[in-house]
Amino acid sequence: IRPCTVVISGKGGTGKTTITSLLIQALIADGERPVLAVDADPNANLHEALGVTVTETLGSMREEAFTKNIPPGMDRTGYIKYRFRRVLTEAEGYDLLAMGRPEGSGCYCFPNALLTECIETIERSYRLVIVDSEAGMEHISRGTIKSPEVLLIVSDPGARGMRTAGRIRDLAESLGLPRDRIFLVVNRDRDDVATTSDIPLIARIPEDPAIGEADLAGAPIVGIPEESPARAAVRDLAGWLIEE
Ligand code: ADP
Ligand code: MG
Repeated sequence: IRPCTVVISGKGGTGKTTITSLLIQALIADGERPVLAVDADPNANLHEALGVTVTETLGSMREEAFTKNIPPGMDRTGYIKYRFRRVLTEAEGYDLLAMGRPEGSGCYCFPNALLTECIETIERSYRLVIVDSEAGMEHISRGTIKSPEVLLIVSDPGARGMRTAGRIRDLAESLGLPRDRIFLVVNRDRDDVATTSDIPLIARIPEDPAIGEADLAGAPIVGIPEESPARAAVRDLAGWLIEE
């Protein structure tokens, strides 16, 4: 079992959210519970990929703590801690810690030591934590997410993508993450592109038209057919995460 997995990338739009949602779907199908899904991207669209309706987010909670009346006898710090558990959205077979504002009105960041502490407290009650991160190393460098057991760097198969993934790996290492926790996931893989990287390749997710169709229709990614090739490849990745 590898408790905390963070999905990251150097370039934007490489498929982090797509893969995270399929990974969560595969993990809960395997009966590995309890699972916590964390959306750590201010673009805040993991819940859409998962098809989950969200009313509470980290952003809304934090906003509330700064604008609403705090109950008497409680300071802001105490209030955030008290409110924190209610921010979780209960989905089928897992909990979701959503990011952003519920109405999706733009980006929201929380470089906030207190929230980091809350996340750590909450993490302890789950067997598996999967974090959908933003592109780049903000969370790792700020320490919002500390020391994941697995860092999955998602990249397209091209040479530039591989170089970017290599730089992200170097950065993660320089920030103290051991090299043996860092793995490469090639997404939108195609037979005609040779992929070379010195990051251990843990999964190749094929280009899958069902994903594009779901996206265009605004439908959840997890609704793509069970036999679709990307879903099958992510099932193998999930199997690797929960082995041992
Ligand atoms: P990120 O979270 O890294 O920004 P997304 O998961 O939102 O990336 O994916 C970006 C775009 O790439 C989306 O339009 C998605 O439909 C498409 N995409 C991702 N993975 C695949 C795939 N394996 N096959 C086809 N399209 C994909
Ligand atoms: Mg994303």
